[in-house]
Amino acid sequence: MLRVTEIFRSIQGESTHAGRPCTFVRLTGCPMRCVWCDSEYTFTGGEHISIDAVMDQVRAFGCNLVEVTGGEPLAQRQGFALIARLCDEGYEVLVETGGYVSTAGLDQRAKVILDVKCPASGEEPRNDWSNLERLRPDLDEVKFVIADEGDWHYAKKVIEEYDLQNRAHAVLISPAWDQVDLQQLAEWIASSGLKVRMQLQLHKYIWGPDVKGV
Ligand code: SF4
Repeated sequence: MLRVTEIFRSIQGESTHAGRPCTFVRLTGCPMRCVWCDSEYTFTGGEHISIDAVMDQVRAFGCNLVEVTGGEPLAQRQGFALIARLCDEGYEVLVETGGYVSTAGLDQRAKVILDVKCPASGEEPRNDWSNLERLRPDLDEVKFVIADEGDWHYAKKVIEEYDLQNRAHAVLISPAWDQVDLQQLAEWIASSGLKVRMQLQLHKYIWGPDVKGV
């Protein structure tokens, strides 16, 4: 059984897949507490659902792209089984993970979107750095949420230290909602010379920052 907060169809709001129709399976619970977290409603509650029942709902939405997210989707061991099952059924699977739980053992067909937590999140000490070693340049993406200038400098250092421009399919730089001036962030990125991609959370601009299930 899995603890599930919501299953819904929308468009992908982030990553290089932004704009694509996508079914989201949002699992309940997260061991982290990022200060700017926009998914606190996943920390508690949720419904216990079998993998078969999740698959039924996913099939009914009819999207080939499925994102397994949270909360922290890898915090439940059954999350790994769900991801394998989705891959077995031919779905293109994205896994959005916060970077605390090891990605070892994840089905190799799934594409990982891995957060590296920056200092202003309050959770930087909990990054599992071995996850960066497992990134695959043809499939996986790595994301830094930036809340202030210190976070930007930290992201640059990690990108260079771990050679992320070559190690990952994309390096995503995302502003923490309402925390950093977008033009300022764009300027830092543009002048950095780094092969990175600024991304906005498309769904928040379409439906607003607090709407769930979109
Ligand atoms: S890892 Fe994600 S879900 Fe967990 S606290 Fe941080 S932002 Fe929220």
